[in-house]
This record gives sequence, C-alpha cells and structure tokens, in this order.
Amino acid sequence: MGNPKAFIEIPRKEAGYRPVNERIADFSEVEQVLDLGDRLLQASRCMDCGVPFCHWACPTHSRMPEWQDALYREQWEKAIGILQLTNDLPEVTGRVCPALCEKACVLAIHGEAVTIRENEVALAERAWELGLIRPEPPKQRNGIRVAVIGSGPAGLTVANRLNKAGYEVTVFEKDEKAGGLLRYGIPDFKLTKAVIDRRLALYEAEGITFRTGTEVGKDLTVAELERSFDAICLTVGARQPRDLEVPGRELQGIWFAMDYLTQQNRLNDGANISGRHRISAKGKRVVVIGGGDTGSDCVGTAIRQRARSVTQVEILPQPPKERTEDNPWPFWPRTLRTSSSQEEGCERLWSLKTTRILGKDGKVSGLEMVRLNWKNENGRMIPEETGEKITLEADMIILAMGFVHPVHDRLLKGLKAKFDERGNLLDQQTDRKVPLFAAGDATLGPSLVVRAIASGQQAAQNIHAYFTRKAHPDQKA
Ligand SMILES: Cc1cc2nc3c(=O)[nH]c(=O)nc-3n(C[C@H](O)[C@H](O)[C@H](O)COP(=O)(O)OP(=O)(O)OC[C@H]3O[C@@H](n4cnc5c(N)ncnc54)[C@H](O)[C@@H]3O)c2cc1C
Ligand code: SF4
Repeated sequence: MGNPKAFIEIPRKEAGYRPVNERIADFSEVEQVLDLGDRLLQASRCMDCGVPFCHWACPTHSRMPEWQDALYREQWEKAIGILQLTNDLPEVTGRVCPALCEKACVLAIHGEAVTIRENEVALAERAWELGLIRPEPPKQRNGIRVAVIGSGPAGLTVANRLNKAGYEVTVFEKDEKAGGLLRYGIPDFKLTKAVIDRRLALYEAEGITFRTGTEVGKDLTVAELERSFDAICLTVGARQPRDLEVPGRELQGIWFAMDYLTQQNRLNDGANISGRHRISAKGKRVVVIGGGDTGSDCVGTAIRQRARSVTQVEILPQPPKERTEDNPWPFWPRTLRTSSSQEEGCERLWSLKTTRILGKDGKVSGLEMVRLNWKNENGRMIPEETGEKITLEADMIILAMGFVHPVHDRLLKGLKAKFDERGNLLDQQTDRKVPLFAAGDATLGPSLVVRAIASGQQAAQNIHAYFTRKAHPDQKA
C-alpha cells in the first residue's frame, strides 16, 4: 500500500462514458479511459484490508490488494503477473464485468469503492502496450490431445491452461470466428472485437489450434471426435432461449435477442446482410421484453440503429435505489442499475407480464400486458395479476428473457452427455472410454464472463487431475 491515507485523501474517480449524442452515432466503446496519473492514484486507494472481501467476491479470487499496489508503483511486470495468475482474460473482464469485487470492497460501505474493474483493464492494456503479454509456449508437450468444443471465455480458459501445461489442445468453434458470446453476443460498444483478436493471436502463437466454422456433431462426427482425442471438454454455452408462449407469437417482427445482436456484430465486422435477412430497428417503435443485461444490449443496439422509440419491459418489480436490510454489504446489491444503453434514451417499465402480441396483416403492431403485484412471502417473491391491462404499440419486439440451458443438440445427444435437473451439463463424466468434461454456461446456466473463466480454470484442473491419476494410479490424491 503506497499511500496509507490515499483512501481518505483521494476520491473515487471513474473514467465515465463518452457523451450520449456522440456515442449513439457509432458502435465504438462507450467507456473512456483515465490518464496514467489519475489511474495510479485510483489504484493507491486500495487499503490492503486484512480480510479483502473483494478477493472473496471475485469468482476467480483475484488478488487485488497485491496487483493494485504493484500498479500504483508502476511495477507493470509484477502487477500483470499477479493479475494473470487468476484471470485469463483481464482485458475482457476489465471491460464487461459487473465488478462483483467492487460491491464487496470495504470502501463501498460508504459508496466509494476502489475502481477495481477500471484498474484491471488499464493494467491489462498497459501490459499489452509494453509487450509484457507475449507468447510463452510450453517448453514440453505431454502428447495428450484434448478437444475443447466452444470458443467462448470458458473454452478459451480451458485451452489456455491446458496448453500452458503441455497438452495438445484443439478448440472447435461452429461460428466463423472464435470468441463465443464475447464476439457475437456482447455489442462492440461494450467490447471491441480487436481485443478478442489480439488474445486469439497470442493463443495461436502459443500453440493452440483453432478450427472455426466446424460444428462438432455435424461437420465432425462424435465417432471421429472420440477417435482423435484423449479427452473432450464441452464449453458450448447455454444458448436455449426462453420463449414467450402467448397468442400472436407467430407474427412477423419478433426476434430473439441473440439473433438480433449477432447480426449487428457481424455487420460491424463487415458482413453484407441485406434484404429480408436484415433485422433493423430503424424508424421502428421497439419493445424489448426482458429487463436484464441482454435486453439492455438490445436497447443500445436499437438506439444506434435509429429506432423511433425503445421501451424495455420487465416482469419483476423495480428494485430499490439503496440496499435493503435483508441485502447487506458485502453481498451483491439487488438495487436499481442503469446501464450506459438505458441512459441513452429508453423507457423502462416494471411488473408487467405480456399476455398477447397484437398484429396487423401478419405483422406485429403492439402487445398487451397485465400489471403484476409482487408479494414477498417468507423471502420468496410471488406474482399476483392485478387485472390492470396495458397496451403498447410496437413495430418490432425483441425477446430477451434469458436462456434456460445448453441446446440439447445432436452433439450432446450423440455423446450421451449427462445433465443435472436444470438441463445443464455435469462437469465431469470420466467413466467412459474418452472422458468428458464441461465448463462455463453449459454447466452453470447463463452467467457471467468471470464465472465462465473460473469454471474453465476448474475444468482444466479436473482434466489435469484425471490424467495425473491415470499415469500414477497408485498415488494417493
Ligand atoms: C447479449 C449478452 C451480453 C452479455 N454481456 C455480459 C457482460 O457484459 N458481462 C458479463 O460478464 N457477461 C455477459 N454475458 C454473459 C457471458 O457472455 C457468458 O456468461 C459467457 O460468454 C459464457 O461463456 P461460455 O464460454 O460458457 O459460452 P459462450 O460464450 O456461449 O460460448 C460457447 C461457444 O460454443 C460454440 N458451440 C456450441 N456448440 C458447438 C458445437 N457443436 N461445435 C462447435 N462449437 C459449438 C458456440 O458457437 C459458442 O461460440 C452476456 C451474455 C449475453 C447473451
Ligand atoms: S473479474 Fe470482475 S469481480 Fe473479478 S476482479 Fe475483475 S472486475 Fe472484479
């Protein structure tokens, strides 16, 4: 801790977003960066607490007091070394993580948490600039071939950790480029895709093989897969969207959030999509059903596409502005959050359940909703229909109500993969000829990048432990 009084003397300073009128005219990142002097001062605010709750709250258990101290002292190599011990993609989490750590920071008790997420991305970017993140292939290979299916943050983490340990890793990806939801879900205005390309180039230089445009189960059969690899790790994500089963669902103009966001990400990448395949909000009254982060990304995208109006509808009640008594620090605050996209001009409606989609000439013209009254019964929120009906006019409806579990497609069926009671994959099935492992959203259900990374790290450990046991069957665990 460079300056023990910094947390008293230096206020929290965020870099903030670009002005609304400027940022909605493009798809570039909305967040700005602080200059180096300010960044070092922000890092110095970390109090090096005896019990660092931030470390407890971060799923990868990042060592913030240590790397922030090294950052403050401009010991870049040391700082990035500590950060990368627990985080395989700090330039990504530093941009998109909801910063679970900051909510548990001791300074957050008074609303002035250390800017850990921003410090993280600043450190990662500086390390890239200084050439401190460079290819470091393993010195030896062990000859064990592992197939990783899916190139999202979980798959990339498994691949990175195993590759560094000497395994021969091939990552299969059905999309034309690797990255999973980092590339095709999260909009460019939150995460520019050059960040993913840079990381992928590093992983390739370190020896990971990427086979993109290859859907395992279709372009490569399960039998071929099992013949060619000693272990398989499924990091296929949780892509089965929650649907809206109401009259009018068949009307034209209703899209799943992922179809909408993926297309805009492809357009930004130079794809030529026009005519009836193009999903555009231009000039339309857009209603996004689902008040979460995916919905918010659709709001920002529709605003950039020049929608006439954007309304976001949520079935749950509006959260309180401040923590309630039953939701104390250091737990995640269930309070109202406003994203950069929502700030850009969207109306938010709460406690509304969609009961019917209205149409004209086969196309969407609006939706009918009923207001809910939520009751707290012994800590469980129970909805009650009030009978009050609300109608909204709409030309386009985006369904952003979340995802249920991985798609139970021919790959998972062909592998006879086992699921838990929620339809997610079990994280290991080793009692088979070619052992099967899994990580990320496919095992957790829809979650966060940082949790996918932590889960990928665990899967890599499980795989390594499996082969270590196999090589030394007499050794005790
Ligand atoms: C719109 C949106 C915005 C989000 N924003 C944030 C955010 O701001 N911050 C945050 O922390 N989290 C965010 N999340 C959540 C986060 O993106 C996910 O939790 C994370 O990407 C999960 O990683 P994963 O590797 O498990 O799966 P994914 O990222 O879903 O990757 C799975 C990959 O597997 C591939 N695949 C599937 N089947 C096959 C097959 N048979 N053969 C080959 N490839 C296959 C898929 O094509 C995909 O590329 C967001 C999610 C969405 C949908
Ligand atoms: S990954 Fe997220 S929770 Fe962990 S230190 Fe970074 S910002 Fe905080």
